[in-house]
Amino acid sequence: MSGSPPSSAATHRRWPIIALIALAAALIVAALAGLALISKKSDEYAAPGLHTEVWQAYQLYNQLQRLETTARGVEAGEADAARLILTLGVMRNTLDPFRHTRVFDYLPEPRPEIAATIERLDRRSERWMAALDWQKEGAARVVAQEMLRTLPDELRPAHDVIVVSNIAVAAKLDHERQSLQRTFHWLTGMLVLLATGCLVLALKILSSQRRSRRLADALQALNGSLERRVQRRTQLLHERETLLRTILESTPSEAALISADQRRVFYASDRLLACAHATRLEDFQLEALFVTPEDYRQLVSRLDAGEALHQIEARLAPAAPYWALISARPLQVNAQSAWLIWSLDITRRKQMEQKLQTLASTDALTGLCNRRALLRATIRQMHAKRHTPLSLLLIDIDHFKNINDKWGHPVGDQVLRAMAERLRDTLRDASLAGRIGGEEFAVVLPETALDRAAIVGERLRAAMADSPIVELEHTPLTITISIGVTQHVWGESLRQLATRADRALYRAKHEGRNRCCIETMPIPRNRPLHRAAPAESDDIASP
Ligand code: GH3
Ligand code: MG
Ligand code: MG
Repeated sequence: MSGSPPSSAATHRRWPIIALIALAAALIVAALAGLALISKKSDEYAAPGLHTEVWQAYQLYNQLQRLETTARGVEAGEADAARLILTLGVMRNTLDPFRHTRVFDYLPEPRPEIAATIERLDRRSERWMAALDWQKEGAARVVAQEMLRTLPDELRPAHDVIVVSNIAVAAKLDHERQSLQRTFHWLTGMLVLLATGCLVLALKILSSQRRSRRLADALQALNGSLERRVQRRTQLLHERETLLRTILESTPSEAALISADQRRVFYASDRLLACAHATRLEDFQLEALFVTPEDYRQLVSRLDAGEALHQIEARLAPAAPYWALISARPLQVNAQSAWLIWSLDITRRKQMEQKLQTLASTDALTGLCNRRALLRATIRQMHAKRHTPLSLLLIDIDHFKNINDKWGHPVGDQVLRAMAERLRDTLRDASLAGRIGGEEFAVVLPETALDRAAIVGERLRAAMADSPIVELEHTPLTITISIGVTQHVWGESLRQLATRADRALYRAKHEGRNRCCIETMPIPRNRPLHRAAPAESDDIASP
């Protein structure tokens, strides 16, 4: 962002450039300073009148000699006051620079007499100048005489001024040369230092730029490879998703793929959507799919526990229920926990099962229970009601073979069907009736003791014998039946019960048929409060 302060890493990266700029600026400043110094010095040395002290000292000496000569002329009357004033003025002019010069400061040893000479000459010349007048020749002669007295003694100090000026100028020039040399050494050192710094920094910047470029290249390569991997992965995911969708849509099962928190539905087949009363994926509710809420709760709790469910039967679509076989398993979709649930409509299978079940337990001819179903039902009854009596009736049609022989097998079948019908009509609902052999039937009477069972047997016998069982070409056909009745005793098996009933039936046949015989129960030694349940393997013995 433009407004945010630069990070410390950016500052760290930028410091060599800042330092290089600072060093380059310092280098330029130093170079310019050096140039300025050279220019100034060259101007100084090129300027006229530089270090003219020696020449001025000579001039002073000459002017003193000339003043002495002029003074001698004035005394001799050969020169006038004006000339003396003029010469004295020139001498004072040559003296003047020595009053201000600092050249004598450079002397290796101090020479105070020079300053004293200058001071003395200045004082005297000033006094002379004050005493002179252009118009007063007399005054000029007086001054000239004084000059002639003093000036010869001044020539020697004036000569010393020349000598000392020479020494001082030489010393000053030497000092300036040394100072200049030091300055140039310093400047050269600075320039070398700055140039070295610049070189080092430039190399550092170059190397860091090269490293940055290498890093940028590596980063670009990495980015490219990452981008390719992301593209490949995206494509793979897309392909997998398409494949999954194709599989889900082409499978005969109905399928739904939802997130484990049930907030997102990734997929739901059209039928499941309809079963859950949803038109869009977002509206799909898993719970709404189930007829029984318990089935839904079980499915969810097992999936929550990470369990995979395999072919669980449940009724789906509360509006139009049907049986479905449900399988489900937890899985990961885009790193999110999800459940894949698929169901198969087993309505037809259920119907077939039901049909088979009915077929397996029903006698095809009469529609009554078959032998096996009756056996199972009897055992169930014995288990369920141990404290109540249970009786068994074994029924056999008398001389049935004759009917077959006389009227044919189909009529025999017709008689059997009619016999079953009459059994149904005569018995209570709770009674279990079945065909256990060709023309043999059995009736189980729950909660019925032997005396009561005998009455039922007699009623059945009478129901058969009292009215024709079928009408054959306007000829009524009447049958009679023989019945053996007995009651179940605690501890005995179904086989034992059946054997006893069969014994009673045999007796009924033997005693002339069309009758109901009772076989009483054997008295058990230690009779408990309830009957023992018979084993599954027990069977009703065939008569
Ligand atoms: P009883 O009085 O001694 O019982 O004589 P019965 O003739 O009834 O007995 P038997 O055992 O001699 O004959 C039974 C007959 O029942 C023999 C068989 O042909 C006939 N039968 C068995 N099953 C069927 C069937 O399903 N349909 C027809 N029509 N007849 C059957
Ligand atoms: Mg028989
Ligand atoms: Mg018979």
